[in-house]
Amino acid sequence: MANEDLFKKVISHAKEYGYIFASSEIYDGLSAVYDYAQNGVELKKNIREYWWRSMVFMHQNIVGIDAAILMHPTTWKASGHIDAFNDPLIDNKDSKKRYRADVLIEDYCEKLNTKAQKEIAKAKKRFGDSFNEEEFVTTNPRVLKYRAQQKNILTRMAQSLDNEDLADVKLLIEELGIADPLSGSKNWTDVKQFNLMFGTKLGASAESATDLFLRPETAQGIFVNFLNVQKTGRMKIPFGIAQTGKAFRNEIVARQFIFRMREFEQMEMQFFVKPGEEMKWYDYWKKTRLKWHHSLGLGEKNYRFHDHEKLAHYANAATDIEFNFPFGFKELEGIHSRTDFDLKAHEQHSGKKLQFFDHEQNKNYVPYVVETSIGLDRMFLAIFSNSLKEEVLEDGSSRVVLKLPAIVAPIKAAVFPLVKKDGLQEIAKKIVEDLQWDYNVLYDEKDAVGRRYRRQDALGTPYCITVDHQTKEDQTVTVRNRNTMKQERILISDIPNKIRNSIAYKDWLS
Ligand code: ATP
Repeated sequence: MANEDLFKKVISHAKEYGYIFASSEIYDGLSAVYDYAQNGVELKKNIREYWWRSMVFMHQNIVGIDAAILMHPTTWKASGHIDAFNDPLIDNKDSKKRYRADVLIEDYCEKLNTKAQKEIAKAKKRFGDSFNEEEFVTTNPRVLKYRAQQKNILTRMAQSLDNEDLADVKLLIEELGIADPLSGSKNWTDVKQFNLMFGTKLGASAESATDLFLRPETAQGIFVNFLNVQKTGRMKIPFGIAQTGKAFRNEIVARQFIFRMREFEQMEMQFFVKPGEEMKWYDYWKKTRLKWHHSLGLGEKNYRFHDHEKLAHYANAATDIEFNFPFGFKELEGIHSRTDFDLKAHEQHSGKKLQFFDHEQNKNYVPYVVETSIGLDRMFLAIFSNSLKEEVLEDGSSRVVLKLPAIVAPIKAAVFPLVKKDGLQEIAKKIVEDLQWDYNVLYDEKDAVGRRYRRQDALGTPYCITVDHQTKEDQTVTVRNRNTMKQERILISDIPNKIRNSIAYKDWLS
């Protein structure tokens, strides 16, 4: 499937099979806001659980919290969001479409990168086994030219943004000849800064109401609770606090389904370390998080690191884990070394000490922080789009199958009576009743069994269990594997084991 087609299929499949609906669809929806449907909510919950266990259960020195979405407004002054949580926006005067100026420039650089990759692939083909990629990329004039151009452009953009020189950002767009991707027009407005936070009010009367913000990230709920958790949990450095929850950003451009939403969910972990040890932990979390991604089996080649040229105001190192979405490699997770910026800022604004007393050194210090921050909705999209396949079968027919990793699949097994008579329904229903204590399972008796298999393939259910006449004689059923379509006969009493073994966290996470 071509990438554009795949992305369209992903969106329509997500709706048709009860994964994602547009928010308030009967009123024509709300831009970049989505609802998770009956199967989507299960998939999302399972992804959240997979992350939570890997962080909180698997690390003795990481605990979780669930802080409120509404926070004291000074939080956002201290964190820098009121002054600096802006994106540079630019409008196209002809198409009237709005863009993020930095994204237009980054997309241009990605094209240079693709050109360099093509040169490498061509050379690889030409030289075969004797090809030395490292030597090639450091000597080939074309690759060197593309890489240098890319670096110069990104460095200049980073400098201009740092210096608030928005006129130069526009100049760069013009010099590179960047056109509106939709209309091809190069007729741009000036670049302006736009604050992404949603404001709201606390209190009943207009005069006494306090201005608040919906949190644009979950991290600050962790920082303001640093001391509470450290003291009550008797935590020693290094330790981490994990949290999942909603965040809100008034995104300038939001045209990529659940990739960029105005209301979304983050899964964040802030790891507090001794000053000077942050780079060691930064490397540790880069490796650990990539391993977590690989454990789901979406293909290692679909991930890459992208180190930041332009660091956020709080960071001394930052990288993204990018995923190969249907629209190309894009950020899935951020790993940031946030220094002691946040805790120090909250100390200054609150007048409270946010320090750790280190018994070994016999002194107090403000810990440094390494953060891992992943969008749950983006992870959902990564898994969902990677799993959707159209397969041609041996007999020439085709099937649509959602090869979700079993550990996160919404429904673990569907149970069918082969026919609606001879007592087969009762046996199938009894199997469901026994399994549903532990697993989300589904009973289906409608249509021919072949159609029921196809329905579950498209839903992503790893196993279909069929009760037939032989079941009555020897207490066995057939179990059909979604991926291989192979069937085996097993005892009814072995079904729980079969499901349990396929979704053991120990096997997946390790
Ligand atoms: P981007 O550059 O794509 O705007 P970001 O660098 O601003 O993302 P972070 O502030 O690092 O993102 O947020 C951490 C994670 O939260 C991101 O890696 C992403 O997975 C997720 N995220 C951020 N913004 C959105 C959004 N609007 N919709 C869905 N997920 C988001």
